[in-house]
Order: sequence, then structure tokens, then C-alpha cells
Amino acid sequence: MNKATRKAVIAGNWKMNKTPAQAAALIDEMLPLVKDADCEVVICVPYVDLCVAVEKCKGSNVKVGAQNVHFKASGAYTAEISAEMLKEVGCEYVITGHSERRQYFGETDETVNLRTLAGLNAGLKVIVCVGETLTQREQGITAELVALQTKIALKDVTAEQMANVIIAYEPVWAIGTGKTATAEQAQEVCAIVRDVVCELYGKEVAEATTVQYGGSMNAGNADELLGKPDVDGGLIGGASLKAPDFATIVAAASK
Ligand code: PEP
Repeated sequence: MNKATRKAVIAGNWKMNKTPAQAAALIDEMLPLVKDADCEVVICVPYVDLCVAVEKCKGSNVKVGAQNVHFKASGAYTAEISAEMLKEVGCEYVITGHSERRQYFGETDETVNLRTLAGLNAGLKVIVCVGETLTQREQGITAELVALQTKIALKDVTAEQMANVIIAYEPVWAIGTGKTATAEQAQEVCAIVRDVVCELYGKEVAEATTVQYGGSMNAGNADELLGKPDVDGGLIGGASLKAPDFATIVAAASK
């Protein structure tokens, strides 16, 4: 597989952090620090911050994303947000299947698939998260589990739509815990994800698909993780809330 054919993507996942005013301040601080990036830079912000983020990022190299999308176009789905709504406010990316959604809000592989399809069908780029818990890793089922999650998430996604899919391998035990996977562990599972994409869509699509690592990636470990051949970028939680740290990760991905 040739990493040079794929664009690195660094995406910040702000989770439930930053009011619109705080978001504006963080973006003002971040934009000049990442302006020379030679990778795709994305910030996935809370819904209420989307408008201010889109406005602030207009004309810059930073793209804006949401952290989830519902699979129905409209209707009685209190608190949910449709793909059309995201598109209309200028969102270009959306995350689906984040482990916090699976863990705390009952999302399943099937709903992750439906949300992924809704995003893609609306023309959004979708960052699909997969990853094992610590128990699953200790049981030795990481490879099977991640392969299964990837296959179900991509059900009915066409080879053409794969151009708009990024898969983020995020070991649950590494998210927000400060416990990063080793670069070797990240590489091993990102390569498994790429093999699954190859099995489903063939070599050409697999070589073109961006596979990110996420889980306590920070300014200190980004270089090593991003240096691995199948790690094409990162989904960054905590460190994306600190502009200088996020910029250091973006610089590491730009090498
Ligand atoms: C995430 O939220 O996707 C994530 C990887 O978080 P953190 O970087 O804080 O572990």
C-alpha cells in the first residue's frame, strides 16, 4: 500500500466542549497556526457551534464537521439532526459511530451504518469510528471485531462513495484515558481495516481510503503514530481543544 497516494486528515473532535463564543476564540487562535498545513484539517464541533465555526473558517484551509447525523430526513426524532440540516449550515464532514455514542447512547453497528449512509447520500464526508474495548482486546478478538464493525458500517456504501469515507480506528481503552495505543498496535489494526476495505471494494479503493488512528493522540506522540504506513491521520479529542497542541499534530501529519 502506498501512503503517498492518500491525503492525511487530522480531525478534531471537540465532543461536548466550547460554547459558540468559546469556539470562536479557539478557532481564532488555531487558524494562523494551521494555515500552512499540508494535510486536510477538520474540526468537528457541537451542533450549536457549527454556524460560528463555518463563518470563522470561511476562506481558510480548515473544514467543519458535526459529531453525528440522524438517518431520517425529518420527523419525530427529538434532539436529532438531519444530514440536510448539516449541509445547509455549511458542514462538510460528520463523525459516525464514535465509541461514546455506542457506549452511552445505545448506538449499534446497524444505526452507525444508517447514519453513515445518510451522511454520504447527502454529500457529506463521513468519519466512521470503529474500535475494541479493553476486554475485547484482552480476549484477543480485536481483529474480528474491528473487521465486523467496519463491514457493517459500510453495508450498502458504494465504491464511489468510499471516496468520501474515512475510517477512524479508535481503541475504546485509549479514548480520553491518556493511554495511547503503541504505534505498532495502531499500525496493526489500521492495516486490518484497510484489508477489510480491500476485501469489500478492491485494492484501488483500499489504497485510496484514509484510515485514521484516534485515542489520546497528542503533540508528543503524533509523529510516531503518523509515521506508520497505514496510519493516514488522526481523530483528536482532548488535544484538539488546545490550539498549539492541535497545530503540532497537524504539522506532524504535514511532513
Ligand atoms: C476522540 O474523541 O475521538 C478521541 C480520540 O479522544 P482523545 O483524543 O481525547 O482520546
